[in-house]
Amino acid sequence: MCQTAANQAAQNQPQQDNFSDVLENLREICYNVENAKAKYRKSGEDIKIMAVTKTVPAEKVNFAVSQGITLLGENRVQEYLSKKDLYDKTAEVQFIGRLQTNKVKYIINDVTLIQSVDSLKLAGEIDRLAAKNNKVMNVLVEINIGNEATKSGVSADGLEELVWEISQLENVAVKGLMAIPPVGSGEDVFDKMNGIFLRVKEKSIPNVSMDILSMGMSGDYELAIKHGSNLVRIGTRLFGVRNYMEG
Ligand SMILES: *Cc1c(COP(=O)(O)O)cnc(C)c1O
Repeated sequence: MCQTAANQAAQNQPQQDNFSDVLENLREICYNVENAKAKYRKSGEDIKIMAVTKTVPAEKVNFAVSQGITLLGENRVQEYLSKKDLYDKTAEVQFIGRLQTNKVKYIINDVTLIQSVDSLKLAGEIDRLAAKNNKVMNVLVEINIGNEATKSGVSADGLEELVWEISQLENVAVKGLMAIPPVGSGEDVFDKMNGIFLRVKEKSIPNVSMDILSMGMSGDYELAIKHGSNLVRIGTRLFGVRNYMEG
C-alpha cells in the first residue's frame, strides 16, 4: 500500500484540493513505518496501516482508499451504519471501538475483525450471532495495559483466563491482542505489552492464534512498531484533527 501512495505521488495526479493533505500525510506515515520497520524489525515482517475513520466523511475516507489504504477502523456502530453504504467496498473494515453486546448484531456481517473484545459476555454474544450467520468471527482481546479507569479492556492479570474462556467458543477465533497505551507512555509500557503478547503466543492455546498485535496510534506508532506491533491505527495524523470531541 505504501508503494501505491508513492506511485500516485510520482505521477503527480491532480487531486481534489481539500484532500491533498491526506495524500501528503499518507506518504509521511508510509515513510515513517518503512523506516521503523527497517530499523527495528526483521525483513519480511508485514506491518498493516489502518485508517481510523471516526468523524471523517465517507468521501475523504474513500480518497484515502484510492491512495492505497486497504484497512479501515470503526469506533462507533451508529456512525459506521450511517457511512458504510458510502464506503469504497475494496477496503476491509474492522471494529475497534467500545462495543455493547446489544449492538453486535449491526456489525456482525460487515466487519472482518472485532478488536475490542474484553469480556466473556461480549465474546459470547459475538459467538451466538456468528453461529446464527454461519460464520466464525475473528477477534482481538483488548488489554487495558495502563490500568486506566476510563478505558475498556481486560486487565493484564485477567487476560490469560479470558483468552482460554473465549477459545472454547466455536464461532469466535482469537487472532491476537489490542492495546491503547496511555498517552505519553514510556517504552516500558510498549515493551510490557509485547512481552504479554509473546507469552500468550508461547502457550499455543487451541483455537487461538497470536498473529496480530494491534498497538500504536498517531502519536506513538513508531514506538509501537519498535515493540512488536504489526497493526497501527492512525486517525488524526492521516485525516487531520477531528472536528468534534470523542464520546
Ligand atoms: C481514535 C482511535 C485511534 C486513532 O487515534 P489517533 O490518535 O487519532 O491516531 C486508534 N485506535 C482507537 C481504538 C481509537 O479510538
